[in-house]
Amino acid sequence: MKRRRVIYEGKAKILYEGTEPGTVIQYFKDDATAGNGAKKDTIEGKGVLNNRISEYLMTQLQGIGVPTHFVRRLNMREQLIKEVEIIPLEVVVRNVAAGSMSKRLGIEEGTPLPRSIIEYYYKNDSLNDPWVSEEHITAFGWASPQDLDDMVNLTIRVNDFLSGLFLGAGIKLVDFKLEFGRLWENDFMRIVLADEISPDNCRLWDVATNEKLDKDRFRRDLGGVVEAYSEVARRLGIMPESVQGENKGPVLVQ
Ligand code: UDP
Repeated sequence: MKRRRVIYEGKAKILYEGTEPGTVIQYFKDDATAGNGAKKDTIEGKGVLNNRISEYLMTQLQGIGVPTHFVRRLNMREQLIKEVEIIPLEVVVRNVAAGSMSKRLGIEEGTPLPRSIIEYYYKNDSLNDPWVSEEHITAFGWASPQDLDDMVNLTIRVNDFLSGLFLGAGIKLVDFKLEFGRLWENDFMRIVLADEISPDNCRLWDVATNEKLDKDRFRRDLGGVVEAYSEVARRLGIMPESVQGENKGPVLVQ
């Protein structure tokens, strides 16, 4: 098989050159990191689940007219995406206080917020992704006021839609992180949703018990990471046929 060119390797994904111009292959690894790489581990099956969950959520969002980079899933660990120019921001939406917001502002985890709050972080590992304001973003040219406006509008739609979708599966969407890219089509540019949406970048709590079904299980050493991600996939009705049994031969289905 011809070796593919790696475009970029991140903490949880690898980007390979795509099969046609303007496309990229996004490969989901089993690696997990937290604290900007301070904590590392491999969680068998995580990549398969995130590929599948992200495919489902991106497809559902496209169904309501949210533009995304997603084209199609290729196999258990890979999806074809459109090549975009990534905007160097993490856009975080919060519905319930948790994580860094709870720590920074002294609000108890689990406290519902009076309204959804959007925060921005500058994507820069050597600076630990610092919190920034719209002023920084436009002054330093990371995004134009128009780009920001588009991102905020899309983020609000994504939050409203995903909050309802997860609630239907008995899951509370506490907070999540989005990334956006610029998609060039001839001389026109559109802001589209990029990266992935999975339990790696969402906080998902069981509605009845508040049990964590997301990456906090890894960050906080709670165990049962794959089980939690599988539970999310199962409740969304998209449990992949085989996660643990990947490449381990045929399985008798009765
Ligand atoms: N998040 C993420 N990548 C990051 C930082 C945060 O995907 O580099 C997600 C995280 O999973 C959570 C939300 O963004 O759903 C808010 O994270 P927070 O700021 O509370 O940071 P944390 O407590 O995870 O360090």
